[in-house]
Amino acid sequence: MSVPLLELRDVDLYYGPVQALRRVCLHVDEGETVCLIGANGAGKSSLLMSIFGQPRASAGQILLRGEDITGRSAHHVAASGVAQSPEGRRVFPDMSVEENLLMGTITIGDRHADEDLRRMFELFPRLLERRNQRAMTLSGGEQQMLAIARALMSRPKLLLLDEPSLGLAPIVVKQIFQILRELAAGGMTLFLVEQNANHALKLSDRGYVLVNGEIRLSGTGAELLGNPEVRSAYLGGH
Ligand code: ATP
Repeated sequence: MSVPLLELRDVDLYYGPVQALRRVCLHVDEGETVCLIGANGAGKSSLLMSIFGQPRASAGQILLRGEDITGRSAHHVAASGVAQSPEGRRVFPDMSVEENLLMGTITIGDRHADEDLRRMFELFPRLLERRNQRAMTLSGGEQQMLAIARALMSRPKLLLLDEPSLGLAPIVVKQIFQILRELAAGGMTLFLVEQNANHALKLSDRGYVLVNGEIRLSGTGAELLGNPEVRSAYLGGH
């Protein structure tokens, strides 16, 4: 069997006395799209942040292609091919769209910058139209696109997405998920954290359900979409 691209083994994470993750085990294979769904405060962001060592897992292991990266610096993890599109987008507001994208090359240098900019503008035509605008003038959906495109500029092996649909209008959410579908079809490995279980499970090969810091359920996207517990807790009972 091949080694997973990302694996968490029995990961615990504490904030002082507060335990945010409990013996979390999960894996993401190369080329897969995997989602982690859960309610507010379930520990989804903490799990993503622990991959970058901030905060460091209190116990357990985080492995990247079999290499133990538990507690390694964010820089090391990024240089190993992991990029994140953070929750709340966090683009650089005063910089132009193009400057934001170029910031994404920081871990790999700008050798491929022109080619990668062209690729991003093909994938996100809206960003081409707004190329010279300051990021603060973009709509929420455009900022989300920019955050994803910036992460892609580092040519990651694994793209982590923290709630890409948060705060966006339904039509924009559809556009974002369509882009993620195209990235997945192109072979990108995606691990996304979402409260929007419906979209996330439809996109994903597999999913995990996090409840109070513990993995409660896992299965294919289709299995979880059909699971009564998931339907009542995360899909409004429909
Ligand atoms: P959300 O969707 O609201 O971001 P989440 O599923 O991402 O929720 P986390 O933000 O990871 O959940 O939080 C998990 C738990 O850890 C919560 O109980 C939260 O209050 C706690 N927590 C998160 N960050 C900190 C912190 N810096 N200090 C103390 N407790 C924290």
